[in-house]
Amino acid sequence: MNVRNFSIIAHVDHGKSTLADRILEKLGAMGERDKRDQTLDTLELERERGITIKSTPIRLNYTRPNGDTYVLNLIDTPGHVDFNYEVSRSLAACEGVLLLVDASQGVEAQTIVNAYLAIDSNLEIVPVVNKIDLPAADPEGAAQELEDVIGIPAEDAIFASGKSGIGIDDILEAVVERIPPPPGDPQAPLKALIFDSFYDAYQGVILFVRVLEGTIRAKDEMMLYHTGKSFGVDKVGTFSPGLIVGQSLQAGEVGWVAASIKDIHDAQVGDTITLKGNPTQEPFPGFKPAQPVVFSGLYPTNTEEYRKLREALEKLKLNDAAFTFEPETSEALGFGFRCGFLGLLHAEIIQERLEREYDLDLIATAPAVVYRLTLTNGEVFETQNPAEFPTRDRIEVIEEPYIKLSVMLPEEHVGPVMQLLQERRGVMQTMNYVGKRVELIYEVPFAEILYDFHDRLKSISRGYASMDYEIIGYREGDLVKVDIYVNQEIVDALAVIVHEDRAYGLGRKIVDRMADVIPRQMWAVPVQAAIGGKIIARATVKAFRKDVLAKCYGGDISRKKKLLDKQKKGKARMKQIGTVEVPQEAFLAVLSTD
Ligand code: GDP
Ligand code: MG
Repeated sequence: MNVRNFSIIAHVDHGKSTLADRILEKLGAMGERDKRDQTLDTLELERERGITIKSTPIRLNYTRPNGDTYVLNLIDTPGHVDFNYEVSRSLAACEGVLLLVDASQGVEAQTIVNAYLAIDSNLEIVPVVNKIDLPAADPEGAAQELEDVIGIPAEDAIFASGKSGIGIDDILEAVVERIPPPPGDPQAPLKALIFDSFYDAYQGVILFVRVLEGTIRAKDEMMLYHTGKSFGVDKVGTFSPGLIVGQSLQAGEVGWVAASIKDIHDAQVGDTITLKGNPTQEPFPGFKPAQPVVFSGLYPTNTEEYRKLREALEKLKLNDAAFTFEPETSEALGFGFRCGFLGLLHAEIIQERLEREYDLDLIATAPAVVYRLTLTNGEVFETQNPAEFPTRDRIEVIEEPYIKLSVMLPEEHVGPVMQLLQERRGVMQTMNYVGKRVELIYEVPFAEILYDFHDRLKSISRGYASMDYEIIGYREGDLVKVDIYVNQEIVDALAVIVHEDRAYGLGRKIVDRMADVIPRQMWAVPVQAAIGGKIIARATVKAFRKDVLAKCYGGDISRKKKLLDKQKKGKARMKQIGTVEVPQEAFLAVLSTD
């Protein structure tokens, strides 16, 4: 059997899913009936947001013009930085990639990061300049950028359009000719890499695997290298694009394994499967258990929905090893959960799914990173919850995570972007010119890009800047906790950790924004920001004017009731704090752009 395993990588929106669709169509893998756009993006949310969250493989049969037949395994990868680890595992399942570049946009931040991931995995790169049908396309320019920035010879590039189908034949021929066949010995001890998974209510966790060495069959007793757990294999098979049951998977093949695994944490992405009776000596390198890096509190707006929220979180967790949650109690918000995510997009996706698929109304608190604290008594502990911060006099050192941020942008916007990065405590590492564009590499505290950074970057670059990042480690910072008081009561869930120099500005912004969004009350309500009990900013929610209130007094009961009903409707996403109703926006005041 002639096999080629490859993946498509690109900056977001450069046309991966569309091109994959054209390839599927060409090779007859799409029946007329399910000919929809972006077949590989299966989650409803993926389709709507036009992003890929899961790596969906598909097995295709290709007959070359000369009559030779091939099996092509195509793996669509998630393009977003939150899912870089998943991308790197998907790439490890391949021998080559199609590296797509939008002919009208050229090389972007994630083009570079993804290309380096492929180079690090020793993959053959087939450069494809895509969307050449666009009027603004500059295919030669884009190919030259690939050469200048990444070192891929411009003449190797295939010009294509996933939309109109130009270049698809050339791409298929290049996959067969340029990408090497998979190595591996079917007789060797089993070594299979898990590169994705999902939870099925009947069969348990379905593992997506690439067999590197050996063979796996139904009824084998398999073992997970890193967790040491073992399971009896129920079924194995391939993707077409549904799950097709087969006899075995052997070295070089991509497929799935079902082994009645009930907990997705027992068999995580990146772990190696081997056989209990004849284990491999060496696992596939680079395994990292999924580790959330961004945390936020999720509370039901209606306290009676606590149990429903817990059930929904449990279900989501079955399908997502990277997502964590634990119960937390807030004086202001009541019972809820502290949740951990891979990044902001991941957080948004989970929240959206909870609201949409489980019909919940939620209050989410501002996202936070994990801080490492050394106390004056020598104790060291990590926390991502501002509410758990000890008082300042008990803290010796605070350390926070830093990222290496790379931003790609047109040269005319460099000034304002550098200023923004400086405001966010960024330190420039390098600046590279790529034609008329610039790549900036900065080291920045991770927390600084969680608050409205991406929006600001997009707006000051008129949408042209793109970014990517990786976490590089912990550094000491002069950080303080800013507490927020509403009507003299501290609202624990609103506390934020910020750099000393930014505390006053941020405190001001939060109280002003909150005073704006909290509905008027019968009396004036003060909103204050404080550090260690010392007030640093104050704003006031004004009282109703007398004449408005007058309508409520007197004997007109039915009218009063109507008014109350109307208020009740508007109550969705409000939380009662003491005597004041605080809307969801207030909890995200820290994130607002202006
Ligand atoms: P992905 O994020 O890389 O998977 O990109 P998609 O395949 O979702 O495409 C992003 C957008 O570009 C969509 O609006 C597509 O319709 C559009 N697009 C994709 N390929 C082409 C192409 O070859 N030509 C043109 N004109 N538009 C394209
Ligand atoms: Mg896509």
